[in-house]
Amino acid sequence: MKAAAIVDAGKADLIEVPIPEPARGEVLVAPSIVGVCGTDLELLHGSASYFRDGRATHPHIFGHEWVGRIVAAAADTDASLRVGDRVVGQTMISCGACRACQRGRRNECGRLRETGLYGQQGAAAEYIRVPAQTLTAVPAAVDDLAAALVEPAVTVLAGLDRVACAPGERVLVLGTGTIGLIAIQLARRLAGTVDVVGVDDAGLGAALRLGAEHAFRPGEAAPGGYDVVVEASGSAAALSEALHLVDVGGRVAAIGVPATPLASVDAGELVLRGVTFAGVRHGLDYYERALRLFAEGVLTAKGMVASVFPLDQVADAFHHLEHGRRAAPKVALSLPPAA
Ligand SMILES: [Zn+2]
Ligand SMILES: [Zn+2]
Repeated sequence: MKAAAIVDAGKADLIEVPIPEPARGEVLVAPSIVGVCGTDLELLHGSASYFRDGRATHPHIFGHEWVGRIVAAAADTDASLRVGDRVVGQTMISCGACRACQRGRRNECGRLRETGLYGQQGAAAEYIRVPAQTLTAVPAAVDDLAAALVEPAVTVLAGLDRVACAPGERVLVLGTGTIGLIAIQLARRLAGTVDVVGVDDAGLGAALRLGAEHAFRPGEAAPGGYDVVVEASGSAAALSEALHLVDVGGRVAAIGVPATPLASVDAGELVLRGVTFAGVRHGLDYYERALRLFAEGVLTAKGMVASVFPLDQVADAFHHLEHGRRAAPKVALSLPPAA
């Protein structure tokens, strides 16, 4: 089969690999849309921790934001899923046996594998082999582009849950990428008002169209003005700013992963102001809810996807994600329906 892989640092290309064989409890899925995100760019450049610590090696078949159709199942597979079903898959595949898993906290599993990141082939391929229990069926009301946004959406849902975002609250989202724009869509429904901070005109425009009330450049929003701040940009400076922008007793949900340490954090001030800081790992338990929110129209893919490239144009897709002038944050790959 054909697969899109990072064949070396900075180089993505199509490769030919054998079709994987589903083992006990697994199914074979033919992906149809695969989102490409900043994490994939880090994999491309070799700056992702997975390459640095040896969990990932070249050629690396990436792809963790995906939707596809089940084309084959191992004999013992759970009957709730059938060949032909459209499904999304969890990125984190927990072991089910470690202390965290036994305590029901599979998000914190000590022996994780992550689809497209390490230990599990990614979805940028004609076929992917996945444990059936990590799949969620996609309702007919959710199209493929929306379904491919479920993976980033679950992390946002987990983040807003972690900080108990409630009706009537003032929320600020930092960043206008995919995570930021999904956070705006959700906060608009879950909270009272939502404002946005961004660096890019197109992103701020999209944020306003998706429900943000005020759009600010960094440094413009009022310090202490927000009950909840969602850091979705991954910039260390933005995370420092988030800690100042949040009100006394407020909560910061950090979803973006800064690549550098925070230069100046006055921890004493944070203690005295009673600020809660929540690092958001992933939203392993939110797939069904995210799909329901897309089905109900609370979340939308409209205005979220800039371009969809066929799988063999993977290098162009990465180039567009990194350098293209885009009106929307998301770039995706498409595959033809399975024969
Ligand atoms: Zn991603
Ligand atoms: Zn485990």
